[in-house]
Amino acid sequence: MATYGFGERFTDHLVTLTWTADAGWAGRPRVLPFGDLPFSPAMAGLHYGQVVFEGLKAYRRRDGALGTFRPDAHARRFQQSARRLAMPELPEELFLEAVDAFVARDGGLLPADDPRLSLYLRPILFASEASLALRPAREYTFLLMGFVTEGFFSDRPDPVSVLVSREFSRAAPGGTGQAKCAGNYAGAFLAQRQAADAGCRQVVWLDPVERRWIEEMGGMNLFFVRGSGPSAEVLTPPLTGTLLPGITRDSLLTLAAELGYTTREERISVDQWREESESGLITEAFACGTAALVTPIGEVRDGDGGWLVGDGKAGPLAMELRTALTDLHQGRVDDAHSWLRWATTEER
Ligand SMILES: *Cc1c(COP(=O)(O)O)cnc(C)c1O
Repeated sequence: MATYGFGERFTDHLVTLTWTADAGWAGRPRVLPFGDLPFSPAMAGLHYGQVVFEGLKAYRRRDGALGTFRPDAHARRFQQSARRLAMPELPEELFLEAVDAFVARDGGLLPADDPRLSLYLRPILFASEASLALRPAREYTFLLMGFVTEGFFSDRPDPVSVLVSREFSRAAPGGTGQAKCAGNYAGAFLAQRQAADAGCRQVVWLDPVERRWIEEMGGMNLFFVRGSGPSAEVLTPPLTGTLLPGITRDSLLTLAAELGYTTREERISVDQWREESESGLITEAFACGTAALVTPIGEVRDGDGGWLVGDGKAGPLAMELRTALTDLHQGRVDDAHSWLRWATTEER
């Protein structure tokens, strides 16, 4: 059986559009064959990091139709990220047109008979002007590429172990933490490597000021569960400006409330996480994002110490929310919020 890594083998096409200070957006998105692009060694994005991106997915319903999950929300976040880096904002209708053009052209590469697979779309906008002038660039290139990827679709995904980073911060007040910009990832890799060296799968970020409030896990948002059963409470750290406003986070808050749980956007400190896990008040913790959907956390390491979350296994609420999300993705339940944008694909 074919294996599908993350972002290694791309589909056959990409969609592109350019922006210049003189002319603005140059018409409509164009489809090109996927391939290497020429660039100037003086390309501003390469030197000064004016680069923002998105990550969203299309899923295949049993009848074959392809549904892209919340592309309008991704379009708006792409605009907010661009604004923060003094880049031009791609109008939402052009973003959606690029998504539609890509899904129509290459969506057929997503096998119809394997619900573990999805089509990951990667829009990116970068400063393509050849100039080292210290100012926002005067030319930008938008690209949308994609690949077929394996979700982590087993019924009980393996819980991950995490290391609380005491040395590094992902974001700072007034910084770029709430923008999906390329540099945020570069700044996070060293902490991620430290986590791996400590035998953990992921890094957990604390707030950069007091160094005690939990913010995110790697490139995913976090949730905690207090109690269990129908009276369980689902909480997630509030969007303080140093967290990336995840669209999966937003979706899970909505779905948890619809399933009858109390939801809270509330700060939780690393001491609270330990004490309440040890006392049994916190029963689950999980991370969420487009790429891996819902990832349970089994074990936390902090300095020389550590603790288990719940029994260290995937918890029932994480699994219930994960199922609610994947049922929506695959068109098995009514899409009450119109979160999916359906498209038909060209015959392959
Ligand atoms: C993209 C991202 C997320 C998750 O956002 P989704 O919209 O749910 O995919 C969380 N944290 C960071 C730092 C991210 O870059």
